[in-house]
Amino acid sequence: MKYVIGNWKMNLGIRESIAMARVALRSLQGKEDVPVVVICPSATALSEVRKVVARTRIELGSQNIGPGKAGAYTGELGGTQLQDVGVTYAIIGHSERRQAGEDEAILPKRFAAAFEVGITPVLCVGEPAEIRAGSASAQYVREQVRRALKGVAVPRGKRFLVAYEPIFAIGTGTSASVPHTLEIIEHITAVLLELGFDDVPVLYGGSVNAQNVYSYLREPQISGVLVGSASVQPQEFPGIVASACDVMSAQKDI
Ligand code: PEP
Repeated sequence: MKYVIGNWKMNLGIRESIAMARVALRSLQGKEDVPVVVICPSATALSEVRKVVARTRIELGSQNIGPGKAGAYTGELGGTQLQDVGVTYAIIGHSERRQAGEDEAILPKRFAAAFEVGITPVLCVGEPAEIRAGSASAQYVREQVRRALKGVAVPRGKRFLVAYEPIFAIGTGTSASVPHTLEIIEHITAVLLELGFDDVPVLYGGSVNAQNVYSYLREPQISGVLVGSASVQPQEFPGIVASACDVMSAQKDI
């Protein structure tokens, strides 16, 4: 299975979000072998977008999840609230949250909140350019995974995803090379196994577009893509989904 997750970030009003959700929906029309497509609008648009994607093959995601089901956490979105609005996936630990000062010590609580309400967490990890330049990417990302999963127990029947999103590739137009991505994903998979988590899909994110997406998705070790800027572009996103469908058809007998 492949995943295509669109992170709309702090973009689109309600009307534009509805229109973009319809674009995503149309991109699956007539397709048989389809990836899991998740769209993550701003919180302000979740309930309207839900109306568009309810009972379709599109999943609704949120860009974060609070550190509990409910409670005194001003500015956070509780697990129960997200469940209530139909969210089934939640991005956590995105580098833009980390750069805004979010302490990664909160991530295990976000995991727990998601599991409690049946939402699948998507943990983002990735190194900045200076770490990459110093050839220390693997160690850096391994430690990020360890810290985020400290004390996390995955309930039976639940799962989580990891998105490898090197910071130098996010929103820069310069994606990480496929060999580099594969090398780091191998480390992520290894550290997940050391921690007792197997079969965790690991995605790539960072300046993915309709032109380069196939080169990532055709790799069996890359379980999908997390897409930022291109996920709010009606000319780009359908091409990304179409590539994922092509890969799914080509690999279905493997
Ligand atoms: C992201 O925000 O997760 C992301 C990958 O952004 P972009 O595709 O714009 O690089």
